Amino acid sequence: MTDEQALVKTLDFQLDIQSDNESLLYDATLEARSVYNGAIRLAKQGVDWDVIHDRVADDANLVKNTTQRVVAKALGAMENYYEYDDFNQPSHTKDGTYPLRANYEEGYNLSLTDDGDVAFRISAKPYKHVKGILNGDDAHLDVLKTALTSDEWRLGTAEALFHDGTAELHVNVTNTEHAVRDKQNSQTVVGVDLNEDNVALTALSKDGVEDTLVIEFPEIKFERHRYFTIRKRVHNAEKWSVLDTLEGQEERFVRDRLHKVSRHVVEWSQQFENPCIVFEDLKEMRDNIDYGARMNRRLHHLPFRTLQHYTSYKAAFEEIPTVWINPEFTSQRCPLCGHTERANRHKKRFKCRSCSHQDHSDRSASVNIAVKGIKKHQEWTVPALNSLPTVRTVRRQASGAVDAPTVTHDTATGYYTDGVEGVSD
Ligand SMILES: [Zn+2]
Repeated sequence: MTDEQALVKTLDFQLDIQSDNESLLYDATLEARSVYNGAIRLAKQGVDWDVIHDRVADDANLVKNTTQRVVAKALGAMENYYEYDDFNQPSHTKDGTYPLRANYEEGYNLSLTDDGDVAFRISAKPYKHVKGILNGDDAHLDVLKTALTSDEWRLGTAEALFHDGTAELHVNVTNTEHAVRDKQNSQTVVGVDLNEDNVALTALSKDGVEDTLVIEFPEIKFERHRYFTIRKRVHNAEKWSVLDTLEGQEERFVRDRLHKVSRHVVEWSQQFENPCIVFEDLKEMRDNIDYGARMNRRLHHLPFRTLQHYTSYKAAFEEIPTVWINPEFTSQRCPLCGHTERANRHKKRFKCRSCSHQDHSDRSASVNIAVKGIKKHQEWTVPALNSLPTVRTVRRQASGAVDAPTVTHDTATGYYTDGVEGVSD
């Protein structure tokens, strides 16, 4: 049950390679690039994904497990492309090295030496190994040595790659003992409503709604649209190397911001007693029906799963469990009377057609997500909600979080008296 929340870390090391082996590793990473390109090319030609591995494996001069892992990575990139409706398909014409991926004890091995160092052996090519000693910072070496001598950490996949000309090994380890609190025993349930330009959080306990925070990140949306436009231009001009650079820049920018937002979500959740974080399982919904323009926009314009993944990963460090609920009706249901109708929602404003309750629509959704989280996993019942506290808004920018203009809010009716839409759109 706790498997999906097991804590994964990536440890980075430099490879101190025995003489005359370095070119072998380099050749293998070039070979990995050709496997990656081959898999993407076949996927673009419409070849059935199930047979792509066998097609490229015949020509690949790599160990079997590594070929499998590299093909999986290529197909993962194609899947992302379809999922986020990106303008660019993954490239199959890049050259240079590509990380060699392998499972522990299949494509790579580690052992402690008598001197207390960690020795590696990477199967670069069939029957050809690269050997040597790992160098790295003490914190990473300590975890690795623990993994080799106890069951506390389990060794997973690793990547051997060249970074600025230096050979490195990135090893994934999983903490098997880290105790994420049991999700059933939560006293506060935090509903998370993810949107293109904000995330709305509501903490719900037996006593009612404890607090709501809306974290805005207009920058991410703005930058992604900006990069989209630039990439399109560069694409038309067929400047492929510029395109690669742009993709890398955009990815780093978005990833950096998503890390900050996810940290903010976890820090905010920590203030409550025994919290549990609830996300919508957006995959569940995409496979169903058309949920309208809002949902389609949400699915295509933000790497939702990345943000969910980062948040759940950071939450696990704090021993906070995360759960997923079905997103159906979360944006249409009135959190006070339960009336559910699509017409209740008008962009950033929610107005119940039954009881006339009005609110910030993303906050409404976050309350409903928390409610579903309670119903799904908690033994206590959802409290009756008569009023909701004021929505606080902060804006995340490069400089950090700043308070956004205060939104005034009539607590009796939950009615907005200030231009929330002006703030968010
Ligand atoms: Zn209502």
